[in-house]
Amino acid sequence: MNGQYIWHNGSIKKWRYATTHVMNPSLHYGIAAFEGIRFYQTNKCPAIFRLKDHLDRFFYSMNVLGMPIMYDQEGLTKAVKDLIIRNKMTEGYIRPIAWFSDEKVGLHNAGGTTSVQIALFDWKKSGPDTLRVHISPFLRIHPKTTDVNAKISGHYINTHLALQHAGKNNFDDAILLDHNGNIAEASAANIFCVYKKFLVTPLRGTILPGITRTTIIQLPGCGAVRAISCNISPAELLESEEVFLCGTAYEILPVSKIEGKIIGDGKPGPITKLLQEQYRKAVHGEFPERQYWLTYVND
Ligand code: PMP
Repeated sequence: MNGQYIWHNGSIKKWRYATTHVMNPSLHYGIAAFEGIRFYQTNKCPAIFRLKDHLDRFFYSMNVLGMPIMYDQEGLTKAVKDLIIRNKMTEGYIRPIAWFSDEKVGLHNAGGTTSVQIALFDWKKSGPDTLRVHISPFLRIHPKTTDVNAKISGHYINTHLALQHAGKNNFDDAILLDHNGNIAEASAANIFCVYKKFLVTPLRGTILPGITRTTIIQLPGCGAVRAISCNISPAELLESEEVFLCGTAYEILPVSKIEGKIIGDGKPGPITKLLQEQYRKAVHGEFPERQYWLTYVND
């Protein structure tokens, strides 16, 4: 279910009144910056997970598109907290988006007034507990065609095509290769594998550097499990003992099969399960030493 209220350019409105004109350049050319953030119930009150990092990336993406930053960290943090309270929600997904909202279609008109909106959704896990994926014929966007570190609407044409193609072939998601033929990421998630006992994830450069990916690298209490970033070939991925996808929406989702190849014994492996449990604790505020990851709504 959607939250009943949306924060729109500084005020909270009923869901159906938070609108924009269809003749805006962002809709026509995919020129919008957005984020996907989660909030979870904790033993104190609802808390937003890594809000500061998400807002930093939001500002970065807006800046890449030449959008003025009219609201700062403090302003948007307050907006998100107010919205959660107003919607009386305790857990869910937060979607901020910034777009050029003037009624002036034409690429040269992509500028002018920038609107910002924040919506909330309930987030009940749906879909399988383990994924069957394939290596997509669509490549991840080349780092010299755009800024791959930004979370920009237009980038998702690429992953929409990859995901649509995966679905038609009965896979749950697609793994995209980079322009050098190395593993990049999934449609809207990063990827890790356990290869010869090492926890490995692709280097930055072609991927969206996910906040969940960073969280996994920084998770406390994982003992000997330490992640390294390096190039991963498709053959290495297929030989891995464990593979999982990660992102704000997916959290940590094990991959059981890549095309015809079963990964491990087809069930979530021990390192994946350990990380899932540590991640669950992190988002629910159960690590005293990682409280700075949480923004408590009622603080
Ligand atoms: N890659 C892409 C293309 C994504 O859309 C996402 C989801 N934002 C991710 C990776 C994972 O990023 P995060 O962990 O910040 O949600």
